[in-house]
Amino acid sequence: MTTRFTIPDADAMEALGARLAVLLEAGDLVVLDGPLGAGKTTLTRGLGAALGARGAVTSPTFVLAREHPTASGTPLVHVDAYRLATARELDDLDLDYDGAIVVVEWGAGKLDGVADSWIDVAISRDATDDSRDVTVTGNGPRWRHLDASLAG
Ligand code: ADP
Ligand code: MG
Repeated sequence: MTTRFTIPDADAMEALGARLAVLLEAGDLVVLDGPLGAGKTTLTRGLGAALGARGAVTSPTFVLAREHPTASGTPLVHVDAYRLATARELDDLDLDYDGAIVVVEWGAGKLDGVADSWIDVAISRDATDDSRDVTVTGNGPRWRHLDASLAG
């Protein structure tokens, strides 16, 4: 259920975000994991561009969550959960998971129970160059065939 990518540069990371974007609709949740500078925001920028998101996609580090209207009418909600320690604190943001496409940086382990289906994207840096190793995993019934969707 996991697809692996080697992403050589930031443009390729944005392109991966765009590939995910075409699969997403209201109610979908994407959880981005990886260290500072891994490329989480870069991927979200490409995802947002493909959705026709308005406003600059940057790390919402201080506002915690930022809502971007998109071309389809379904907003992109971009969350930075770095400073949120627990699922409870994330829950306090009262995000509209059903009406939006929600992308959460630093969300691993903090979203238990909010959705029965979600996509995990784990990014790690290569020690020797700028490339990133990315795994995309579909969880739950909605993403049972995510591997095939990404391959096609
Ligand atoms: P994060 O949100 O995970 O902290 P950012 O996306 O803000 O990371 O930053 C990633 C930085 O690394 C950007 O400056 C980007 O241009 C750079 N970069 C270099 N190579 C890559 C790559 N292969 N994939 C993603 N970003 C890359
Ligand atoms: Mg970021």
